[in-house]
Amino acid sequence: MWRVSAVMARHRIHYPPPSLRCPHCEGQARDLLYHSTYRTRDGPRLLWRSRLCGRCLSERRGTAFFNLKTPELEVSRSPDAMLRGDTQTSTSQTRRHRRDTLRRWRRRAAPRARAVDADYVTDLSVRDLESDEQWSFAGRKKAEFAESSERGEVWWHKALARERRLLIEQFVSPRTSEAAEMLVSRSFARLVARRLPRVSSDGYDAYTQPLSEQVRVMTLYPLRWALTKKGKPGRPPQPKQVPDPALLYGQVVKEREGRRVVKVEKRLVLGSPATDLSFVSTSLLERQNGTARSRNRYLVRKTYAFAKTVPYIDDQCEVDKTCYNFCRQHRGLKGETPAMRHGLTDHVWSVAEVLGYRSASP
Ligand SMILES: [Zn+2]
Repeated sequence: MWRVSAVMARHRIHYPPPSLRCPHCEGQARDLLYHSTYRTRDGPRLLWRSRLCGRCLSERRGTAFFNLKTPELEVSRSPDAMLRGDTQTSTSQTRRHRRDTLRRWRRRAAPRARAVDADYVTDLSVRDLESDEQWSFAGRKKAEFAESSERGEVWWHKALARERRLLIEQFVSPRTSEAAEMLVSRSFARLVARRLPRVSSDGYDAYTQPLSEQVRVMTLYPLRWALTKKGKPGRPPQPKQVPDPALLYGQVVKEREGRRVVKVEKRLVLGSPATDLSFVSTSLLERQNGTARSRNRYLVRKTYAFAKTVPYIDDQCEVDKTCYNFCRQHRGLKGETPAMRHGLTDHVWSVAEVLGYRSASP
């Protein structure tokens, strides 16, 4: 079948994909001339020649499929399977690839997923933001995670836009105040400027400081003193510095006895004291944690299929986020993906589409 289209391809006027770029001379699509067509297991693919440096490059350059012989669909099936609850071992046995091949493909998939994420999940207008950290580990549960170490406890930091169930930001790291700060600043960087979301989290206090740094500081002058104590002796009180009360941040504090939750309390941390607390909730992100825990094979509890090193779980979670946002139809969104509901895209993406994505911006 593709032989016919290969012949046809030769007689068509060819335009290079707008996102294709020569890695040698940074030549853009307009600098590329059609060179030839070559065969792959996925059909004919075009070879382009840069008129700046004279070197040739494939139209698959820059995608996860570049220089692979395996068909594209087959390559994208394995990260997909590992995000539907299959282990590396079971995927390797049913699909007949070696386990390190699967990991290598996932290594290629992670930057593609990140590129989709960086290009689409930006300039968001979000009403409610939930943030949380999901516990997991790589290699050993008991080891302390350090930047240099490849094993130990890790926390999957996530921020979710509540109404559209869109995962805004994610990364895997130890649970430190620096990580909390990074989650806040990276999430806010993806939002439309000057539209503050209402933020909810659990009782973990590390978000308060970085959140209050996201808004300007307001100075409260001692008005009462100025009105009533005018002209009286004594030192006037210092003006108080507070974060802009337009930013609302609430915590859901759970009191536990053993493993049972005995009391749930909502607490307003930032914002004016008269605020209605009904916006404070982390239940949808907790539900997302549950989904991730059952599908992302590294997070499933009580198995031997845990991640063996931190870079593995890094890659997996990177791909998981983009697949969750773009490729998985959400039951709570009537079969749409979170990205569709947010108006970032108009269709359900296939995993192959993510892996073949190349950023159009330089
Ligand atoms: Zn070049």
